[in-house]
Amino acid sequence: MTPAVVIIGAGPAGLAAGAALRRRGIDPVILEQGDGVATSWRRRHEELRLNTIRWLSDLPGLRIPRAAGRWVRRDDYVAYLERFARQARLQVSCGVRARRIDAVVGGWEVTTDAGPHRAPHVIVATGHDRVPRVPDWPGRAGFRRPIRHVATLRRAAELAGARVLLVGAGNSGVEIAGHLVDAGVGRLWMSVRSPPTILPRQLHGVPLHPLTVALRPLPERVRDRLARAVADHAFGDLSAYGLPAPRQGPFERMRTRGVTVAVDQGFVGHLTAGRLSVVTVVDHLDGSDVVLRDGTRLRPDIVLAATGYDPGLTELVGHLGVLDPDGRPRRVAGSRPPTAGLWFAGYRPAIEGTLRRHPIEARRIARAIARRS
Ligand SMILES: Cc1cc2nc3c(=O)[nH]c(=O)nc-3n(C[C@H](O)[C@H](O)[C@H](O)COP(=O)(O)OP(=O)(O)OC[C@H]3O[C@@H](n4cnc5c(N)ncnc54)[C@H](O)[C@@H]3O)c2cc1C
Repeated sequence: MTPAVVIIGAGPAGLAAGAALRRRGIDPVILEQGDGVATSWRRRHEELRLNTIRWLSDLPGLRIPRAAGRWVRRDDYVAYLERFARQARLQVSCGVRARRIDAVVGGWEVTTDAGPHRAPHVIVATGHDRVPRVPDWPGRAGFRRPIRHVATLRRAAELAGARVLLVGAGNSGVEIAGHLVDAGVGRLWMSVRSPPTILPRQLHGVPLHPLTVALRPLPERVRDRLARAVADHAFGDLSAYGLPAPRQGPFERMRTRGVTVAVDQGFVGHLTAGRLSVVTVVDHLDGSDVVLRDGTRLRPDIVLAATGYDPGLTELVGHLGVLDPDGRPRRVAGSRPPTAGLWFAGYRPAIEGTLRRHPIEARRIARAIARRS
C-alpha cells in the first residue's frame, strides 16, 4: 500500500514529523540510511553533550528523564530518541538510503538503494549538518599530514599527545578544543578567521539557553547587545589571547551566515591558562607545514577542521529548483506547485536551539499535510 507520507531521515526532525503526523491519524514511512534512529548522534564524539538544556531539547509527548541531567550526554540523547520512536510507534525502515526525489503523477517518487517509494507527500529531514565541510587549501594534494573533519572524531583521546592544528572557532571548534586539552593533546593551535561570541553555558548557576528563548521577541540588535554584555561579564576581554570582540553579534551572525554561538565548556579557562594558542588564518599547505597568513609555519601532526557542514541536498533534490545558492531549501518549498507535497524539516538552525524548532516545524508540516489529505 502506498503510504500518504514518506519521511527521509530518522533524526529528531524526522521523528518529530512522524509523531506529529501520527497524532493526526496519518501513518508515515520513515527511511533511514543508518542502522537505527539518531544515526548522526551515534557517530558524534563520545564527550558530546547537548548545549541546549534538557527540558527545551525534547520532542512532544516524551520528556528526557531528569536523571539525564541539565546537559544531556550523547548516549542518553540517542537512548531518548530510540524510546521516542518506539512510544510514537513510528515505522522506521533502516539501512535505506534515499538517492533522488522526482515528481510523478499524484506526488513524488523517492529512489532508494532498496527500490522506489511513492507518496503524495515527502518530508526531507536528512539534517542541516549532513556533510562535513573542509576547505580546499592550496597545497592540500601534496600535504603530508592527515586532515580530518571534527565530525570524524569518535573521542578526543584519539588525539592525546598529538600536535593538533584545529581550524575554526565556531561552536564545534570551541567545544572540541576544550575536550582535546582535557584529553591531553600534545600541543593545540586554533586557527581563527572570525572571532566568535563565546557564551558560558550558565552564569552564576543560571542556564542561559532558556533566556535566549525568552528574549526571542526582542529586536536582534538588543539581543546581540545583551549577549555581548554576558560574554564580557563572564570572560572579559580576550584580545590578548587572540580573540578580540567579534564585529557581528551572535544573533546577526546566525541570521546572515547561519553560524551558531560558541558555548564555553572549559575552552576559555584553557585559553587563558595557555593550554592552547590562537593563531591566524591558514594560507596554504606546504609539505608537512601549514603556512599561516602572517607567514608563520606550523608543523602539526594533524589538521582538524571544525569548519562547518553543508546540508548536501544536491543529489537528492538539486534538480527540482528548491535549493537556494547555499544549497539550503527555499522557504516556500512544499506548500505550492510545482513542489507541493515536498517538505523540508530541520534546515533552519537557531541560537535558541535547533532541537527546539523541530517540533514546531513538524506540527506546521503535519497540519498542512492533514489539510491536503
Ligand atoms: C556536533 C553537533 C552538536 C549539536 N548540538 C545541538 C544541541 O545541543 N542542541 C540543538 O538544539 N542542536 C544541536 N545541534 C544541531 C541539530 O539540532 C542537531 O544536529 C539535530 O540532530 C538535527 O536533527 P535532524 O533530524 O535535522 O538531523 P540529524 O540528526 O542529522 O538526522 C538526519 C537523519 O537522516 C539520515 N539521512 C541522511 N541522509 C539520508 C538519506 N539520503 N537517506 C536516508 N537517511 C538519511 C541520517 O542518517 C540521520 O539519521 C548540533 C549539531 C551538531 C553538528
